[in-house]
Amino acid sequence: MTNITIFLGPPGAGKGTQAEKISESFNLPHISTGVMLREHVENKTELGVIAAEILNKGNLVSDDLVTAMLIDRLDNSDCKDGAILDGFPRTIAQAESLEIDDLEIRNVILFEVNEEELIKRMLERGRDDDTEESIKVRFEVYKNETAPLIDYYNNKGVLNSVNAFGEINDIFNKISKFMEL
Ligand code: AMP
Repeated sequence: MTNITIFLGPPGAGKGTQAEKISESFNLPHISTGVMLREHVENKTELGVIAAEILNKGNLVSDDLVTAMLIDRLDNSDCKDGAILDGFPRTIAQAESLEIDDLEIRNVILFEVNEEELIKRMLERGRDDDTEESIKVRFEVYKNETAPLIDYYNNKGVLNSVNAFGEINDIFNKISKFMEL
């Protein structure tokens, strides 16, 4: 049984930073669909060619493509005990695709944020797909497509919230406690 932990929250909330630390501390693979997609784009794979423009605009790659890529990754032997998902699911359809035998959604960590502060942080981070326009699109997409997952997982009794604007180590300690529940 693979115990899945999901890091949920808007772009720029620090999910990647915390997933990295939690991954190390709990010896679980950190799976970021954003990182995987950017690798496909860099390597100009078939998926990368399709995804490149979508990423630049800040839109979502289709559920089918991302889900296939993710499920394939979860089949890897390093995920047999568990994994941390960062950036997946981003839609209800993606969440439903995780409801399969052998996977258990144990824990969803919601990164709670203040939008203005986030946009400022993201522009400072300076990633290629972090233009003002694409950031705006990504927030809209988050509100429309991804935020409904908050209620979805809350109703399942697996949602735990952390304030994403604390000290990195304080946030890490809170998440660690939730990992031990
Ligand atoms: P991230 O690094 O998580 O901010 O993701 C960067 C970009 O990759 C997003 O803006 C989307 O275009 C794409 N992406 C990452 N994860 C997903 C997903 N689960 N579903 C659809 N698109 C995704």
